[in-house]
Amino acid sequence: MPPIDISKITLDHIDIPLLKEMGVQLSILRLDKIHPFISGNKWFKIKYHLVDFKKTGSKGIITFGGAWSNHILATACICNMEGIPTIGIIRGEKPIELSDTLKQATEFGMRLEFISRTNYLDRGSSDFIQQIKIDYPGYYLLAEGGAGILGEKGIGEIFQIATLSDFTHIACSIGTATMWNGLLSGKEPNQIIIGVPALKGYTQQSHQKGQILADFHFGGYAKYTSELTRFMNGFYNSTGIPTDFVYTAKMMYAIIDHIRKGMFSPGTKICCIHSGGLQGNNSLPKGSLIF
Ligand SMILES: *Cc1c(COP(=O)(O)O)cnc(C)c1O
Repeated sequence: MPPIDISKITLDHIDIPLLKEMGVQLSILRLDKIHPFISGNKWFKIKYHLVDFKKTGSKGIITFGGAWSNHILATACICNMEGIPTIGIIRGEKPIELSDTLKQATEFGMRLEFISRTNYLDRGSSDFIQQIKIDYPGYYLLAEGGAGILGEKGIGEIFQIATLSDFTHIACSIGTATMWNGLLSGKEPNQIIIGVPALKGYTQQSHQKGQILADFHFGGYAKYTSELTRFMNGFYNSTGIPTDFVYTAKMMYAIIDHIRKGMFSPGTKICCIHSGGLQGNNSLPKGSLIF
């Protein structure tokens, strides 16, 4: 297993005619390059939870996710590298054939426990958490997606990797909003953080904290259209950068769309965070993508 390698992160400058035309600069911070299984932002979000786990002296880590979860795979891989027993509580009944993600997590030694979608909805409640503590005594409960203050603290370290202070805007995808919160805490006073929710239900917002572009969820979480996959192929063709359909493609689509519509004034410098997640593309029908 290769180690996590922060030095692999690059800040790629994008050079497409639209940008010159609109006078906007666009770069992409490639967190996706740090590891094949520990996807981009998940490492930063899990990092301090891991430190906390070690302090508690718990015997293992238990966490949650869906069948194609980047977080489940990242946790399984980190625990494998660290020799930590781990259990994944997976949303939905056990399928006849496991997804590629869950197969890989099992190979890393993660024990999977499937629960119904209805029960899964309850995972934040104190009753549920109490039951987990009874059922799996001595296990450290890692919030889904590495959420919480510890996750946000890890995200703050992204500012130490590359010089981001020159950018007027930093854009990221929003799932649990841990990355978004971490970026808001660490940004320069004048920088604007643009968040593009991967889920339905957000409203368009613009205030001093940042800007939410809520209309680019393409139907909801992990939903997509042929327009999105066409965009992903086109973006790959013109930049050589692969995106994932759940998070980063929706963010890039939103940013390019807003540039095209002249929503950014000339001189704007945007940095998009490539938060990884490429393994999730394996859930798409074969042939959907050219990369
Ligand atoms: C988990 C994930 C996100 C969402 O991050 P949050 O901190 O949960 O908002 C974005 N992009 C990728 C690739 C992810 O795996």
